[in-house]
Amino acid sequence: MPATEIQTYVGRFAPSPTGPLHFGSLLAAVASYLDARHANGRWLLRIEDIDPPREQAGADIEIIEALDRYGFEWDGPVTYQSSFRERHREAVERLLRSGWAYPCTCSRRDLAQAARGPLGRIYPGTCRSGTRQSDDVAVRVRTTDEAICFTDRLQGAQSQRLESQSGDFVILRRDGLIAYQLAVAVDDAEQGVTDVVRGLDLLPSTARQIHLQRLLGLPTQTYAHVPLVENTDGSKLSKGTGATPIPLDRAPTTLLATLAALRQRPPKSLSGAPLPAIWDWAVEHWDARALAGQRNIALQHYC
Ligand code: GLU
Ligand code: ZN
Repeated sequence: MPATEIQTYVGRFAPSPTGPLHFGSLLAAVASYLDARHANGRWLLRIEDIDPPREQAGADIEIIEALDRYGFEWDGPVTYQSSFRERHREAVERLLRSGWAYPCTCSRRDLAQAARGPLGRIYPGTCRSGTRQSDDVAVRVRTTDEAICFTDRLQGAQSQRLESQSGDFVILRRDGLIAYQLAVAVDDAEQGVTDVVRGLDLLPSTARQIHLQRLLGLPTQTYAHVPLVENTDGSKLSKGTGATPIPLDRAPTTLLATLAALRQRPPKSLSGAPLPAIWDWAVEHWDARALAGQRNIALQHYC
């Protein structure tokens, strides 16, 4: 009889080094960490440094230090997504060879008239059947209108028809940079990630990532999208409101507040406790179901 393969949970936190950790990213980090540790799983830290124009020098170090100060313990070394460029390129090449991807010479101006869908402008397919030779090209992947369905552990059943909702989307940008959708789809699969726990802002990207994984013959993860932190008036966080860096001198209190925001119920006896005691309690009692169906969390819970 073949040995039964026991699949252990592998989670990850994948911040882009665009600035220091703020409450929104801390919330996602805590949720993914607790979900992994509660399942006795591994938890990886991957810095998604593939978009230099958006990055801030030193932000990677700041993020790593902040996570360390908060007592997160990742398995293995921190990985940098830029070091996986080779396999991102290979994936693009494979999709081009199979005909699933094609060069696109459309400029932003060319697409300015395209209809808008729930995921932004819908690519009208201009270059689908070939385009003029040019070095200055993006690469797009073909989509179909077959529904891509998955069940998000927190947000329930999801379904997207990519062809009508986004159109063929970019996997290699005109500026030569790999698109986030491609990099994350490849790396989650290649790093053996089984469970993605991240912010709800990425829920609309998930079907595109699943589409790419299917075309590349890669496994797909289980997803849980956690609520976003908002100002009490429902507006998005910005610098000056909640998007300020998390405090490094008050990690235990901030962690307790984060747990409360995640609808866990840390006992009063933990106030004033050191980080390891808070983490022990949180790992043992983590209950993701408390977040089911929640879409946002008001900032006041942190204060
Ligand atoms: N790097 C992305 C971000 O910081 C997150 C990627 C992911 O969790 O899939 O927004
Ligand atoms: Zn085009």
